[in-house]
Amino acid sequence: MIISHKDISNSGTQVKSKKAFTLLFALFTGTATMAQQHVDPWAPKEITTIQPVASLDKGVWMKGDLHVHSRHSKESTNNSIGKILRFCDKVGMDYIGITDHDNHVAGDVMHNTWADPEFKSKSVVLLYSAEWTTVRGHGNVFSAKPYDHQRLFEVRDQRDLVIGAVKNGLNVHLSANHPSGKDHFGYSYDLVQSVEVWNSAIWSKNANAMMIWDDMLSSGRKLTGRGGSDAHHGVPEGDEKPSKSTVEATANYVGTPTTWVFATARNSQAVIDALTNGRVSVSANPYSPRVEFYADTNEDGKPDMMMGDNIKSTGQNVKFRVVLTGKTFADSTYTIKVVKNGDAFNTYKITGKDPKVEFTDTPALIGRTYYRVTVEGRPADYPEVPVSTKLTGNMVALSNPIYFNFDPNF
Ligand SMILES: [Zn+2]
Ligand SMILES: [Zn+2]
Repeated sequence: MIISHKDISNSGTQVKSKKAFTLLFALFTGTATMAQQHVDPWAPKEITTIQPVASLDKGVWMKGDLHVHSRHSKESTNNSIGKILRFCDKVGMDYIGITDHDNHVAGDVMHNTWADPEFKSKSVVLLYSAEWTTVRGHGNVFSAKPYDHQRLFEVRDQRDLVIGAVKNGLNVHLSANHPSGKDHFGYSYDLVQSVEVWNSAIWSKNANAMMIWDDMLSSGRKLTGRGGSDAHHGVPEGDEKPSKSTVEATANYVGTPTTWVFATARNSQAVIDALTNGRVSVSANPYSPRVEFYADTNEDGKPDMMMGDNIKSTGQNVKFRVVLTGKTFADSTYTIKVVKNGDAFNTYKITGKDPKVEFTDTPALIGRTYYRVTVEGRPADYPEVPVSTKLTGNMVALSNPIYFNFDPNF
């Protein structure tokens, strides 16, 4: 078929026909591409609806463990809730999520873990939690108040859309556990608010979890990275008998690693909100330094946002600050690695009594950018779990990201 300029001219106005001719000419000659005709509705565009950043001062840093099994998980040994909570007091934990396997009690966490007479504390904030243990993988559920866990247990094999509706109805925080390897989280990450990027004292096991986290962040999912010891075994006391797994009690226990949250108040809802909002860092143990990560976006020398916070990029320079707080070794060097959008951005060596580093970068005006940091260096001893430091190696702490242009309505 041959279409001439004249044929087209006869079918419309002069201007329209000229355009049509140009397009047809391009199609016939192969110079037209799909991009010229199709507009990607999902392409990065200006974000207008980001909430202002919450106060950087009004709150308290609280430390805890978000993955611990008590005697209500069948494979755990010598690990009563009372023992776990006494240990929390001893090492100064502020909160704890006892996450027993729900399948061991056919979903009835409410009348097992939460009904245990030892499930109470004046000093440690207790979360209502459980490990959702399914053939498609494991996730931890966190709530400030009791919820009907049975319903989540019952839909475990259903389509993700059904699970999502039940989970949203229960108004709980769902978190992907040990996302790589056996029992990986085989569900959509759109169901979760956080991901366990540091499982147990054995830091080296977590490389794939970190990769998955970066993939999810890079694809626009604002997911908090958290830790969890996944401890199952306590040190035998009194007439308790050692088990073949008792060796784990001194290698991996409450606090290996420790998850820090910046909570607006010392209560369970504030702990979960901080977890959802990403004002979270993870440290090797409760005595390990904690990493703080801030950004000064208007060059006034004062930070305006911290990890977990998300703002609209202005296209201007941002000054970032990484600070190590707590007990640091003044004579040691700490290595700070900055990751930008999933890729290595820069590495800094810091020393001294009050180690910190600042760096500057310009997040893109349009499209998402995130920065996160990891800290390596001399490990802090954990005398209550003495073998853990050897297993963790030089990994000291990791931050959550600082975000630019992440769509809150994603
Ligand atoms: Zn698990
Ligand atoms: Zn577990």
